[in-house]
Amino acid sequence: MTDYPVRLLTKMLDIYSPSGKEKEISQFLYEEMRRHGFKVRQDNVGNVIGEAGRGSPVILLCGHMDTVTGFIPVRIESNKIYGRGAVDAKASLAALIIAASAFIEEKTAKIVVASVVDEEGASKGVKNLLKEKVAVDYAIFGEPSGVDKITIGYKGDLRIEITCKTIGGHSAAHWLYESAVEKAIEIWNEIRKISSSATKMGGNSGHFYTLDSCLTGIRGGKGNSTVPSKCQIILDFRIPPNLSVAQVINEVHKVIEEYQKTNPKVSVKVKVIDFVEPFEADAKSPVVKALSRSIREVTRRTPMLLRKTGTGDMNIFGRETHVPVVTYGPGDPALSHTANEYIVVREYLDSIEIYKRTINKLIESHESA
Ligand SMILES: [Zn+2]
Repeated sequence: MTDYPVRLLTKMLDIYSPSGKEKEISQFLYEEMRRHGFKVRQDNVGNVIGEAGRGSPVILLCGHMDTVTGFIPVRIESNKIYGRGAVDAKASLAALIIAASAFIEEKTAKIVVASVVDEEGASKGVKNLLKEKVAVDYAIFGEPSGVDKITIGYKGDLRIEITCKTIGGHSAAHWLYESAVEKAIEIWNEIRKISSSATKMGGNSGHFYTLDSCLTGIRGGKGNSTVPSKCQIILDFRIPPNLSVAQVINEVHKVIEEYQKTNPKVSVKVKVIDFVEPFEADAKSPVVKALSRSIREVTRRTPMLLRKTGTGDMNIFGRETHVPVVTYGPGDPALSHTANEYIVVREYLDSIEIYKRTINKLIESHESA
């Protein structure tokens, strides 16, 4: 009984699938799900979408096939499975597929399993899923939360590039010129003040409720005898649920406007590279309730609700569809993206049972509603 889940997961871990290179695993899962009796298709970005059962409610189970880079040789040791993606998030995806395969003959619900691409990249996979406008009643995203924990919130993320230009010149007479590198650092020092003032507005404390910003890149100067005339900095903002991406961009523009009053000769341009809005799911929704009860039954522990400082595909999907959503999956999230990724076999197997029970409870509560 436990053989197949372990075999499926180790095979998935053996197929190296960093973002952008999901073709092989996509093909593998397509075949695997077809063998189980799913109605399967691949969409134009490479997502594999399998359907089990028919009727309503329609329950979406979504997991990602891609991982960060860095292959880890697959091995099983003292009931742990090691491999790239063991935690983030192939154990979750395998568990979702196995749980859904118990509903192939189901006549009172349709379970849609979406194995998506590019979650660690720009979320091409989930964005395409939204484009197709698949009508669903509930959605569960498979990401590591730990077997007895439920993720109901993620912060937003905004990455911008700021380009500063000045008139450079010979560094032997540097007092005649303005250094774009120094100007960019001055601007960053002004921008980082936004975080503390925005945080005071919220009232809640803790990193989930804080606007955090980080200087993640800087490029400028040629290292010769020239005062740099151009500098680019990359800033990464992590946005709490009480703020939006637009509000943060607005604050950045205000800071730059203010800065240019005293530095009129410096040209400053802001470019948005990428963003994801923050998202907090309804903790009292039917899907959170069904999941909480299932966790309690299987683990005999009271589930803990997590609000995380990262982002997930749930942000994009939950915000756009307003469908009750939640993120849940086996594995210690602290091991995500590390060289030591492993999943405890027991936890992985328990999560399959928890997903199954959650689906059953959602079907029951939908019938009685
Ligand atoms: Zn993930």
